[in-house]
Amino acid sequence: MNFEYNEKTQALLEKLRAFMKEEVYPIEQEYIHAVENGENRWKTPELMQTLKQKARDAGLWNLFLPEEYKPYGAGLTNAEYAPLCEEMGRVLFSSEIFNCSAPDTGNMEVLAKYGNEEQKEKWLVPLLNGEIRSAFAMTEPAVASSDATNIETSITREGDEYVINGKKWYTSGAMNENCKIMIVMGKTDFDAPRHQQQSQILVPVDTKGVTIVRPMAAMGFYDEPIGHAEVLFENVRVPAENLLVGEGKGFEIAQGRLGPGRIHHCMRLIGCAQRALDMACERVEARVAFGKPLAKQQSVRESIAKMHCDIEQARLLTLKAADKMDRYGNKVSRDLIAAIKIVAPTMACNVIDESIQMHGAAGTSQDFVLSAMYAYARTIKLADGPDQVHMMQLGRNLIADKNA
Ligand SMILES: Cc1cc2nc3c(=O)[nH]c(=O)nc-3n(C[C@H](O)[C@H](O)[C@H](O)COP(=O)(O)OP(=O)(O)OC[C@H]3O[C@@H](n4cnc5c(N)ncnc54)[C@H](O)[C@@H]3O)c2cc1C
Repeated sequence: MNFEYNEKTQALLEKLRAFMKEEVYPIEQEYIHAVENGENRWKTPELMQTLKQKARDAGLWNLFLPEEYKPYGAGLTNAEYAPLCEEMGRVLFSSEIFNCSAPDTGNMEVLAKYGNEEQKEKWLVPLLNGEIRSAFAMTEPAVASSDATNIETSITREGDEYVINGKKWYTSGAMNENCKIMIVMGKTDFDAPRHQQQSQILVPVDTKGVTIVRPMAAMGFYDEPIGHAEVLFENVRVPAENLLVGEGKGFEIAQGRLGPGRIHHCMRLIGCAQRALDMACERVEARVAFGKPLAKQQSVRESIAKMHCDIEQARLLTLKAADKMDRYGNKVSRDLIAAIKIVAPTMACNVIDESIQMHGAAGTSQDFVLSAMYAYARTIKLADGPDQVHMMQLGRNLIADKNA
């Protein structure tokens, strides 16, 4: 087993690190400030377009799209993408600079895999070019959506149209002014077998009957300018060809998108945790209490060592899951994907929490990115499936395997 990144990955990683150092870290606070103080908090600052163009020119674009989707993406494997995605995770908004941010990445994969030529032309191409943004609407306020078979939004065929009725929330991305398309999950047949009732359909945001009701907070953060929207669908009519693949295929498509989506979140969280540790190392060296730098306290050294061990364990598990996905496919790798989705958010929460502690009050302040990172890590214990659901499924599979 070789733990070194291959040459292609090393070269891209060096280029990405240089880009982050020269273009992203220096403007991190400026960008956050521009979002907070702009006239419209759901409008992405102009600065983002400039950075996107620079990233594209540097060949750091659409790195997430695997080989099978060439010519669209960079053709990297999941294992090759892992350290790059981790690097982007160090700055919360930076994935967008490289056109690698959720939920667009998952939506692009769905469109590339299941969209017809016209849909690809209309939605996938502008998404790949970073010209528009998108959202994925599955979760509903009225039902326990961790069990996706519960959802109640209806998608009803009427002639050559489908009519959509329902209410969604935490639809990430839908607050953004530039969000033009949503993939909506609903039911086309409430009487079909449990996993064949759901379908997914493309709904342009400006369709009559779509109302963006309000932004939802996540741990007090509104994640502007992207946001998480509550969305109402009232007699929304779209052409029948907007249905992806066919009636009853919604669950299958959802499972397909969530595998890579889940591991990408884990990769980003490892980046968040590593940055929190790097920041802690700097802080404890500079801060003097009780006559010596915090770095000289034994308990501080122990905490730093433990943070490193926890990150490294999660990183190795992520790489193992990514490698298995590359070699055997997402379905066969489901247990490892579940394992890392259980491990990474809690690891990141713990590491960031320790770093906040070492920073003192400053760690909770607007001058440091730690509290926003913590909120992100905490919400990933819920988003893309709560920990308990992954544990339930992983436990079930392990017991079944043992008794097979
Ligand atoms: C910041 C953020 C962004 C999100 N983005 C999106 C998005 O873009 N699109 C989208 O559709 N959704 C999104 N979500 C929603 C997310 O996917 C759901 O919150 C998640 O699937 C859980 O559904 P629920 O909130 O209805 O919780 P519920 O289904 O009500 O579950 C509540 C809790 O019950 C427990 N539980 C559930 N099942 C079991 C079990 N089998 N055993 C033990 N305990 C269990 C878990 O602790 C779970 O957290 C986002 C959420 C957040 C916080």
